Amino acid sequence: FVQVYAEGIQYGGRFRGTMLVLRDVTIETGIDRMKSEFVSTVSHELRTPLASIFGYTELMLAKDLPVDRQQRYLTTIHSETQRLTSLVNDFLDVQRMESSQQQYQFVKLDLRNLIQEVAEFHAGSTSHHQLTLETGDRPLRWIEADEPKMRQLFGNLINNAIKYSPDGGEIELKLEELEDRLRIQIIDEGIGIPQHALPELFSKFYRVDNSDSRKIGGTGLGLAICQEIVRAHDGLIHVESTEGSGSIFTIELPFEQISSLETITGTEHA
Ligand code: ADP
Repeated sequence: FVQVYAEGIQYGGRFRGTMLVLRDVTIETGIDRMKSEFVSTVSHELRTPLASIFGYTELMLAKDLPVDRQQRYLTTIHSETQRLTSLVNDFLDVQRMESSQQQYQFVKLDLRNLIQEVAEFHAGSTSHHQLTLETGDRPLRWIEADEPKMRQLFGNLINNAIKYSPDGGEIELKLEELEDRLRIQIIDEGIGIPQHALPELFSKFYRVDNSDSRKIGGTGLGLAICQEIVRAHDGLIHVESTEGSGSIFTIELPFEQISSLETITGTEHA
């Protein structure tokens, strides 16, 4: 994009000519576009839960409702409030990522236990998908990692696998010990991702521009946050996908180096 200015040049009180200034504004235009995409994403994502909270509180204020209906409405209000909270947390995370203020607390972790817990939590949130875990039962070596961030990482990926899979879809979590690292795969049979979108997928606010993704809704922040978490752990994240048949997200995390001889078992370590 080029912006053009024309300016008359005067010298000694006489008109001497016209100066044309051509300015490359490609970057500014890109930023402007990102800003407006951001504003429309944020307003849309905030408006949906807010409308629902507003509607249900109005219903509850209007008349004496039977207790079971009150319970139902309160459950919806509660989950929509959680949705808003996690949305705001994502925005804050991205802002901290940009200003390099994200703090990590590394501790020795048993990832098998953690992934099992996160998977169980998400399995409870869907009755339409089947989650299977293939984690093996050999003792695992330690990973040095930030526990809440690991929960957030696997939570985001499992949540996406559920969100972008039609009812009845199967989601498989695989945990595999390689020589110097742990490999975790989240495999779904969902809508998949078009090839052209793959290079952009981990960028902030990027969402695949098709009717399925638009219907499903989201901010395009989850994968950018995942990538940041994996980087902070010296790991790798990548995706393979076939549109219409599913996606595989793979994460590789290095084993803790100092005490690589120590082992833990899935059950001994809480
Ligand atoms: P959000 O889901 O909030 O839009 P993400 O950053 O988590 O944001 O994902 C970015 C985009 O990548 C999504 O909008 C979706 O188009 C695509 N995507 C992510 N995970 C999957 C998946 N498992 N299957 C299909 N598409 C996916």
